[in-house]
Amino acid sequence: MKKYGMHRTVLSVICFSLLAVLLTACVSHDSKYEEAFAWKLRLFQRLQDNLSKPVEARVQKMPAELLKATREHEQSIGITSAVRYAARTPSADDMALFKSYLDLLPHAHKVVFEKKLLAVYLIDGFSGAGLANWVVDQQGQTYYYIILNSSLFRVSLDDWLSYKNDSQFDKSEASPTIRVRTQTDYKALIYGLLHEGAHLVDIESGATPYFDHHHRRLIGSTQKISEFTDRVWLNWLQPAPQCDFAHRLELNPYGSFPKKGSIPRAELTEMFSQLIKTPFVSFYSGSSWNEDLADYVSFHHIEKKLGGAITVELLDSENVIDHYAPIKSPWLNREKYIQAFYD
Ligand SMILES: [Zn+2]
Repeated sequence: MKKYGMHRTVLSVICFSLLAVLLTACVSHDSKYEEAFAWKLRLFQRLQDNLSKPVEARVQKMPAELLKATREHEQSIGITSAVRYAARTPSADDMALFKSYLDLLPHAHKVVFEKKLLAVYLIDGFSGAGLANWVVDQQGQTYYYIILNSSLFRVSLDDWLSYKNDSQFDKSEASPTIRVRTQTDYKALIYGLLHEGAHLVDIESGATPYFDHHHRRLIGSTQKISEFTDRVWLNWLQPAPQCDFAHRLELNPYGSFPKKGSIPRAELTEMFSQLIKTPFVSFYSGSSWNEDLADYVSFHHIEKKLGGAITVELLDSENVIDHYAPIKSPWLNREKYIQAFYD
C-alpha cells in the first residue's frame, strides 16, 4: 500500500562501490538515489533464488534484517505502531487460503507473481493492509516483494474495506459512518492480493506513467499521462479539479499516522457526495494515480470476476442515507483502460 503518495520504500545506507558501474544508465549523482538502488540491488541478490520456487513457497517469514529496516523506516515517517511489527511464520491455514486466492487473481497478477515476485511476508500488527515494494537486478529490471497484514487472513473483506474508509474519521463521534458491502464471503486477503498485486502489474505494464520518483528515474520516463490517468490526474499526486474532494490531503486510513489525526466526522456527508461524482471507488483512490488504479482494479475484479456487487453506503446511526455502486457508476467506466490485467 502506498500512503499519501510516498510509497514506503525501505532504504538503508549501504553503499556499493560497484553500483555506479552496474547501473550507469539510470543512476544520477543523487546520493539518496544511489543508496536506494544499492539497497534494492542487494535485496534482489539476497532473494533471487526464490524465483525458482512455486509462488506459494515464496510466502516466508520476513528475515530479521528486513523486518528491522521496515520497522525503522515506517517509524521514521510517523507510523509509531511499527515498533510492534512482528514477522509471522505462515500457518498451514494461512498457506491454504493464500494458495486458493492466488487462483482467483487476474491473469496479469499471476504472470507477474510467477516471474517477478521474490517474496511475500506476513506482519502481525502492520499499519495498513500491505505494502508492495520494488527492487532491481544488475540490469535495472524490476522485481518485487509484498508485505501483507496477518489480519487480512482472518477479517472479512467487507469489514476491512469499511474500516479502511471509516477509520479516517473522528472516532469520538458516532455518526455518520461509511460502510462497504461486496455481497461476497471473502476474507480481506483477496483485497490485499488484488491491490498490492495491481501495483506490480502497474509497474510492469505502465498503466500509470510511473510509481514513485525513483521508479521514474529508473525508466527515464518523461510521460505525464496514460490512458488510465488522462482527464483524471494532473500529475502523480494531484487529481484534476473535477475529481478532487475536500480533506483529500488529510486522509489517514487506519489512523496509521497518529500525528495526522482524523477528519471531523461531520465532514463525511459532504465528502461522500463529492466522492460519488469522481471516478474513484474509494477516498483512498485520491491519494495518487497508483492507488486509484490499484483500488479500481481490486473493486472491478471483485465485482466483474468474483461475483461481488459492491455498494458504498453512508449511514446515520443504522440508516443508509446515501449510497453508490462504484463499478456501476457512469463516472467509472474505466474498464477499457485496465485490459492489460486480463490479456
Ligand atoms: Zn497501494
